[in-house]
Amino acid sequence: MLTKIKCPKCNTEGTFSISDPVYEGPYKCWKCHELFKIRMEHNALKFMEAMAPEELAKFEQVQALKNKFRRPQ
Ligand SMILES: [Zn+2]
Repeated sequence: MLTKIKCPKCNTEGTFSISDPVYEGPYKCWKCHELFKIRMEHNALKFMEAMAPEELAKFEQVQALKNKFRRPQ
C-alpha cells in the first residue's frame, strides 16, 4: 500500500509504502532528511512527531529482534 506523507518541516510530499493496515515507526523525509515517528491506520496519518536518532536505533533493535524470532511460514 502506498501512501503520501507531507513533511512538516519542508512541506515536501513523500511516498511511503506500508504492508500492514497499522504502522507505527520511523519516517524519513527524502528531501530534508528529517526523521519522524508516525502512526498510520488504514492509510490515514494518525500521529506524527519528531524522532531522535537514538529512538530510531532503539526501534531498529526491536525490529531486528522480532525478525530473529519470527518463525518461517
Ligand atoms: Zn522534509
